[in-house]
Amino acid sequence: MRSMPQATLLVVDDEPANIEALAAVLDPHYELRFAMSGLEALTAMHDGPLPDLVLLDVMLPDIDGFEVCTRIRADARTAGVPVIFITALGQPAQEELGFGVGAVDYIAKPFTAASVRARVRNHLELKRNRELLQRLAITDALTGLANRRHFDEALRLEVQRHRRQGLSLGLALIDIDHFKRYNDHYGHPKGDECLNLVSAALAGSLRRASDLIARVGGEEFAILMPETDLEGALSVAERGRAAVSELAIPHAMSTTQPFITVSIGLHAGIDIDDAQRYRAADQQLYRAKAAGRDQIMWDGKGNAAGGGK
Ligand SMILES: [Mg+2]
Repeated sequence: MRSMPQATLLVVDDEPANIEALAAVLDPHYELRFAMSGLEALTAMHDGPLPDLVLLDVMLPDIDGFEVCTRIRADARTAGVPVIFITALGQPAQEELGFGVGAVDYIAKPFTAASVRARVRNHLELKRNRELLQRLAITDALTGLANRRHFDEALRLEVQRHRRQGLSLGLALIDIDHFKRYNDHYGHPKGDECLNLVSAALAGSLRRASDLIARVGGEEFAILMPETDLEGALSVAERGRAAVSELAIPHAMSTTQPFITVSIGLHAGIDIDDAQRYRAADQQLYRAKAAGRDQIMWDGKGNAAGGGK
């Protein structure tokens, strides 16, 4: 895979001669790390950066390879790292046990260099493809933002967490003003281009890695802002609104501005569930549209409840 950074393998074996033999086979192709006991292997998995694959001896002086593999699988952080057993124990029962604890492959000693290289290469490729599919499943194909599925799941989890911890969660729903007219007038390719520019502007206006932006509908976006009160959410929303206006994408058919603008509905608070929260922000988006678009609306703005801004 052309410019792919070199994959890192963790080689676990208590015999220096075995480690040397494996290193001789794999060394120029991969970055190698070594562990000489089960606990050393687990420590390396926990403390260091995760390897892309583990080559694991079964017979180890402290805890055996099966137990090491079981623990790697049980930890959500390390569970995705493929484990290949590499051992002299070639009996069917041992292999069955190895696959039973979640190994992806089993290499019996004595091994051939070609077989070790091929198996490692194949499993690394499978892992990369799996990760690519996982990314695609949560990504909006046009804009590269998170998709609706990812957003709904994140909203559900964050609502639970914020309720448990008594924290305020911010949610902004953002809709491009008069987008249907834009598409009708300029055509769908220009419409897609506009969606991409707006996506990039909104994403670029975020300052915190914890804020999640998603495309949740045709011309609708959402920003989920963990641990954020109304004031904080409002400044995020205002930066996003301004960033889109500053693109100055001409929109001859807009009755709001001669360029592309967005309307934003905002909600921040603690004690409501994900569906209610989405509806609350959506109601504010509706109000922003009704009040003339190109603006942010939240519960309290324009009512007696909060000082309008
Ligand atoms: Mg051994």
